[in-house]
Amino acid sequence: MLKMRKTILSLCLAASCLLIFSQLEAQSGKNAIRTVIIDPGHGGKDPGARGLFSTEAQVALEISRKLGKALEAEFPQIKFLYTRTEDVLPGNARTVAEGLRARAEFANQSRGDLFISIHLNATGQRAGGWYAKRVVGHKPKVVYVGKGRKRKKKTIQQPIYESYYVKNTRVGTETYIWAADRSDDKSAYIDVEDESGEDSTAVDVNNILDLNSPEAKIRAQLYTKYFFKNSAQLASYVEEEFAKEGRQSFGVKQRNNKGIWVLQATGMPSILVETGFITNKEEEEYLNSDKGQQEVVETVVNAFRRYKSELENARHSQKATPGK
Ligand SMILES: [Zn+2]
Repeated sequence: MLKMRKTILSLCLAASCLLIFSQLEAQSGKNAIRTVIIDPGHGGKDPGARGLFSTEAQVALEISRKLGKALEAEFPQIKFLYTRTEDVLPGNARTVAEGLRARAEFANQSRGDLFISIHLNATGQRAGGWYAKRVVGHKPKVVYVGKGRKRKKKTIQQPIYESYYVKNTRVGTETYIWAADRSDDKSAYIDVEDESGEDSTAVDVNNILDLNSPEAKIRAQLYTKYFFKNSAQLASYVEEEFAKEGRQSFGVKQRNNKGIWVLQATGMPSILVETGFITNKEEEEYLNSDKGQQEVVETVVNAFRRYKSELENARHSQKATPGK
């Protein structure tokens, strides 16, 4: 009985491996990319980060739609699919965790070759800015200290406060990839962000995914082996292109303890682009403007074009040196 269960288990593992390996076949060559999943972050009851007048869910959807249109126009042979096209959680999920699972399942079932998630960043502080107080001087004030016969008159210096506006100044872009094994030297050049959890995408992985299940372990190994390099490559292209556009780029990052579950659960190279800070007034306006959205779209399209041609050329060089 135990033996039979073991056999069934290994058959299941083999089947899920086969499924993933069949996706790996097309990792290079002319048809390296046949299906791309575009994932607008958040949605519905999960608005994501809030700016002064817009939400992350809303702006991410607008950018994602424009990104999909631009990519379709340039690459008509590739299928571009969206995890959501309306202001809802993918799969009409009731919770954020269910929504994340739905995103990953949709990507895997659609046999995606690449997963691009679009988000906006936020600082933990109020959007736009806030009022704070500072001491600008002192004025004398007469006070009485002590009680009864010991009561004395005393002059103290009382601070004069001024209210002033503190602008939320943080701006810029960063692109995340799922953290590979830290001992893996390929990951050594990437900054590891100690996430403070300001983005609801960073969910405690253990809550929604059993990382000790055999399937999760296989996925993690495969991801590291086959998808990490490509994910890192595309992510670095995206950030290079942002820098060319004159945006402040914080480069490629990965999160360790709280993985970005969406990225980890997709059996394909995947990136999560933080397109800018919705909590900065000017960057929020920029990301809501047609000009800003078009520039973000151009950036990702340029990076995608470089990534795609590199995959295609990888196959050519393999052909040129048979037996290697
Ligand atoms: Zn987000």
